[in-house]
Amino acid sequence: MSALKLSVVIPVYNEEATLPALFDRLYRSLDALHCAYEVIFINDGSRDKSAAILAAQYHARPDVTRVILFSGNFGQHRAILAGFAHARGECIVTLDADLQNPPEDIGTLLAEMDNGHDYVGSIRRQRLDSWWRHVASRAMNSLRERITRIHMTDQGCMMRAYSRRIVDTINQCNEMHTFIPALAYSFAQNPTEVTIGHEARHSGESKYSLYSLIRLNFDLMTGFSVVPLQFFSMLGMLVSMGSGLLVAYLLVRRLFLGPEAEGLFTLFAITFFLLGIALFGIGILGEYIGRIYHEVRDRPRYVISAILQNEVAGHE
Ligand code: UDP
Ligand code: MG
Repeated sequence: MSALKLSVVIPVYNEEATLPALFDRLYRSLDALHCAYEVIFINDGSRDKSAAILAAQYHARPDVTRVILFSGNFGQHRAILAGFAHARGECIVTLDADLQNPPEDIGTLLAEMDNGHDYVGSIRRQRLDSWWRHVASRAMNSLRERITRIHMTDQGCMMRAYSRRIVDTINQCNEMHTFIPALAYSFAQNPTEVTIGHEARHSGESKYSLYSLIRLNFDLMTGFSVVPLQFFSMLGMLVSMGSGLLVAYLLVRRLFLGPEAEGLFTLFAITFFLLGIALFGIGILGEYIGRIYHEVRDRPRYVISAILQNEVAGHE
């Protein structure tokens, strides 16, 4: 087995302005841990100079650096999956490239792994993101807590540590759309959480638009729960019962009070309300079906154009 203790997996998408500061702090804090480590950067099809900067860093520290270059933009979670497939350490830590999570806290995660935990989640001490992200992620957090079996305090924080066993299990999964912290959690036997620092993005902007955040949250909800589907079966049953009662009431009313033609706009209101619910339900159904469609096509999750790594250390 490998003697490598730690693999750090970092997805990179258009982070040219942040990378030099990241290298500076990351390698310094990893060297200070005095253990055998490797850093795996995955360039997720950046359109700026990130790939060249990563290649230069590989040549500066080839003993501990590996760079996977994607042929296009496949998304943060697939980039991490590629990192997992290549990681060789006993413990695997994921980290964002934007320095929002301080690399100095990797030691805190490792200490919990040494205490026998196989999954170390993280909670951001004071989160420094825009206000609408706070509100939205609190809402999604509590929804996830209710409809899935995944329990974590702060689902949005990607800086986490996973054991070799968990990463091996993830490597056996072929799902196209996933949410790594939740997938890993579902395989964990002894999970724990630690509080870590959080900083504003070092430079550049968040790579997630509102649209891609919504997509990501659908991946989380549909990937780990069928409660949204069941919710619509339940709602359908309730609505049918309600309309059954209404029919009975109208029948009785027709017999004793005669025909009624009033209430036209109430009827419209009820119809539009039900139409809205039906459309929403079809949409939810579509989210699942679209994902099934992606799964059955079974296209590759990502395409690697090149890997920069030390041949002596490398094994594929
Ligand atoms: N990222 C990526 N591919 C993408 C989007 C983001 O590899 O399509 C990387 C990005 O470079 C960063 C991490 O994922 O290292 C988190 O992205 P970001 O900081 O923009 O997300 P936020 O912190 O706003 O949730
Ligand atoms: Mg960030």
